[in-house]
Amino acid sequence: MPKFHLLSLGLDALGDFAVETGEPRYRGRQLREWMFRHLETDFRRMSNLPQKLVESLEEKATVSTLRERSRQDSVDGTRKWALETQDGHVFETVLIPTESRRSLCVSSQIGCAMGCTFCRTATMGFIRNLTLGEILEQVLWVNRFLQDLDGSRVSNVIFMGMGEPLHNLENVALACEALNAENGFGIGKDRITVSTSGIVPKILEWARRAPNFKLAISLNGSNDTLRSSLMPVNRRWNIEALLDAADEYIQITGQKLTFEYILIRNRTCVPEAAVELKRIASQRNCKINLIPLNRGEDPELQAPSEEEIQAFESILRQGDFEVLRRRPRGPDILAACGQLAIPLKKVA
Ligand code: SAH
Ligand code: SF4
Repeated sequence: MPKFHLLSLGLDALGDFAVETGEPRYRGRQLREWMFRHLETDFRRMSNLPQKLVESLEEKATVSTLRERSRQDSVDGTRKWALETQDGHVFETVLIPTESRRSLCVSSQIGCAMGCTFCRTATMGFIRNLTLGEILEQVLWVNRFLQDLDGSRVSNVIFMGMGEPLHNLENVALACEALNAENGFGIGKDRITVSTSGIVPKILEWARRAPNFKLAISLNGSNDTLRSSLMPVNRRWNIEALLDAADEYIQITGQKLTFEYILIRNRTCVPEAAVELKRIASQRNCKINLIPLNRGEDPELQAPSEEEIQAFESILRQGDFEVLRRRPRGPDILAACGQLAIPLKKVA
């Protein structure tokens, strides 16, 4: 019998598990504390649990399913892990430290089905969804690393690693809840962000299922011709449909939305596009996150120069919305946005 992932059980289910093994329900709370607060993965070291429960846990459950394939450290402090699942697939997770934050960019899938032309993850195709346990284990993993390094913890989680999070909606929603829960990792809801390529019906589902977390939409193109040439998803749901969903999201959740916008020389980073983007952003409660292209597979796509970026920004700044520029982190180890990919589909 394969072992189940203990991180995937909520407090109630952990209590049920304890009761099934003849233990009081409060053992569930103790288990949460061991995993989420003490970051313990070895049941035998959970010192306040009775022997019988420990044996039953060892037989049926696990908190560590991932194996480190590699870790790369960037000159800018970014660190990228390649983690191997029990069925032999490899995916990546990226720690991005700043002065005040320890942001973790987690993966929600192995590979991605969306086929965006600028993104290396797309070259893998879609392999499978990560389980709830595998998503949370990335945070546990990096928290254990940080604990040994300097006693810090992951402070922010962004679902911007491999995959389209809304194609794994229920696991991502449950993961966000466990990240945020007081008896979970206790990360503030405003510090948890999910980024989607724009699956319209899923944005509406997400608005109802998980209205408290931050949502970012990868707009990336300011008109349909441009966006469809970069993101096949735009041929299914065009910008008008996407913006309708964005407005409904804002209305249902009362949250400000982020639009991510990739800057590609002579494509998305041109003055006409800035004017279109300004019009889009001016009409709704949102902010714009500009992401200069990071080096990918396609030699045709190039990053704009600093002057081109500034010219684009100066048009946007005439609007009354916030504009941020995302600085690339970890490009030397291919850890920046859109650079995650594992060339091997399956490891023997
Ligand atoms: N799949 C989700 C989340 C992961 S990608 C999504 O697409 O939203 C996170 C962000 O990185 C997205 O906004 C995406 O458009 C951007 N991105 C992808 N490839 C990139 C590249 N080569 N350079 C810069 N940004 C990129
Ligand atoms: Fe998938 Fe996002 Fe990359 Fe597009 S940008 S291929 S949705 S990971």
